[in-house]
Amino acid sequence: MVEDSRSLRAAYLAELGIDLFQPRAPVPFGPGDSSLMNSQSDWDSLRNEIRACHRCDLSATRTQVVIDSGNPAANWMFVGEAPGEQEDLQGEPFVGRAGQLLEEMIHALGLTRESVYIANILKCRPPRNRDPLPIEVELCESFLVRQVQMVKPAILIALGRIAAQNLLKTQTPIGKLRGQVHEFEGTPLIVTYHPAYLLRSQTEKRRAWQDLCLALSTIRAA
Ligand code: URA
Repeated sequence: MVEDSRSLRAAYLAELGIDLFQPRAPVPFGPGDSSLMNSQSDWDSLRNEIRACHRCDLSATRTQVVIDSGNPAANWMFVGEAPGEQEDLQGEPFVGRAGQLLEEMIHALGLTRESVYIANILKCRPPRNRDPLPIEVELCESFLVRQVQMVKPAILIALGRIAAQNLLKTQTPIGKLRGQVHEFEGTPLIVTYHPAYLLRSQTEKRRAWQDLCLALSTIRAA
């Protein structure tokens, strides 16, 4: 059983382009460890508000809002950019090819997709997957802040430039934001590449693994 899960993880790391895998101590946090779970009614009202949102023009072109997936009491929270075509159709973040790679990254951490919490900067798809406009980010921001406040993750992972720059309120390039422990609302935040970018750039997968290792050491030291 243990051997099975080890070889599974080795396969994920191979997919990430990582040759060498050093066995690690188990990740110290799992699903449902949060002692401060929010009430179902808080989540229901947040979800209803997001579903009814018409604050920006994206509400006119969306098929459906994409709020989150995973464990609302997770210790690990991943934040992407915005729903793409598949996410807009299915109503769930990271369900396309980038989502498959994200799942492999999550597995390489010794976690499952169900045990972590996944959300986006924007809850609605920008037409033709264009970059979010500053006004769209601004009008959507309070939803993400509430998600972070309710999940109370031990660590946040910003996936890609758009997530990193908007969470950290900076124009600094992603290459300079990587490799440091930042903070969002008092929660440690690590920046890594967006899985869609990693699908196009095999060589950056090794760097993404370094980012995830920094996240692991940060959460272990907490
Ligand atoms: N890319 C993102 O940033 N988020 C998704 O949900 C899907 C693709």
